[in-house]
Amino acid sequence: MSLAYGNMPLDRGTNQRKNKRWLSAEFTQDKTLFCLINDGMSLFEKRAVHMPIYLSRTQLPTLTVDSCIYLGKGALGKGTLDKESRSVFAVDFNKLRFSTQQELTEVGQWLGLRKVTATLSAIDASILALAKGLVHWHISHQFCGQCGHANRSVEAGHARRCSDCRNMSFPRTDPAVIMLVEKMFDDGIARCLLGRQASWAKGMYSTLAGFVDPGETLEQAVVREVMEETAIIAETPQYITSQPWPFPASIMLGFTAVATSEKIDISQDDLDDAQWFTREQLADFVVNNSKVEESEESNEPQYKMSSGDSISSYLITAWLNKEIGQY
Ligand SMILES: [Zn+2]
Repeated sequence: MSLAYGNMPLDRGTNQRKNKRWLSAEFTQDKTLFCLINDGMSLFEKRAVHMPIYLSRTQLPTLTVDSCIYLGKGALGKGTLDKESRSVFAVDFNKLRFSTQQELTEVGQWLGLRKVTATLSAIDASILALAKGLVHWHISHQFCGQCGHANRSVEAGHARRCSDCRNMSFPRTDPAVIMLVEKMFDDGIARCLLGRQASWAKGMYSTLAGFVDPGETLEQAVVREVMEETAIIAETPQYITSQPWPFPASIMLGFTAVATSEKIDISQDDLDDAQWFTREQLADFVVNNSKVEESEESNEPQYKMSSGDSISSYLITAWLNKEIGQY
């Protein structure tokens, strides 16, 4: 099993990257590549099949090592240039000099990563997701949380230090639980509990999810979130797997849980709907991606699963195939 964004081939060089001499040497190597992020979007070739564009330093003549974020070193393999081990840095396009920005306008096109994940190699999707998350962190932590003065990027872009009180900030990851809740009904048919938000595409349903509260175990978060969103009593949370979700700064922690109640009540939370679905119903779901067309024969939208790149679609599919869960 392999979930999108979790196939990082790069060694993050956690120890080496703090060494400025080592970092500068990596920065100046000809084979080093740079991954640009522009308002959350990544740079792709203009062809129909989207290939990410990694730039060389000669294409970024005004770039300095201090304005880059070190992602790591490794072989990017199939889908990119070759299998040679090389360092990769992330760069915020908006911090480049205007003249450099102008020169890059014809190089490719800017696209949201999640829109093209399905067409990318697992490695490219993981690198681009990390770059997106870290660039966002720098943009959203420009000022010190203690005294309000400006922060500056240090430690190869993996920390920011206050220019006044020297307080250090580090990128955080917010844990979120996401759970496939199941129940064996009196009719002898197992069902799982899925919900939808009003802003989602018509007919799209997903596993319930929510952020872990301070001072709470993951298992407690599963039970609380299911109760908050649907008034269903859930028990025996079982951890399944996790998925990095740096959009902007989460990790999704996948669970199964067994419901001991049946009546759904969404009035206490902001879900648009929640329903129990049998495997027979789930088998007719389509994976939601941009190519999905709504049924032309009727006004009723076809039920859709959440995006194929998400752990939600993995949990639902795995339960459908009886790979996870008790029932
Ligand atoms: Zn400060």
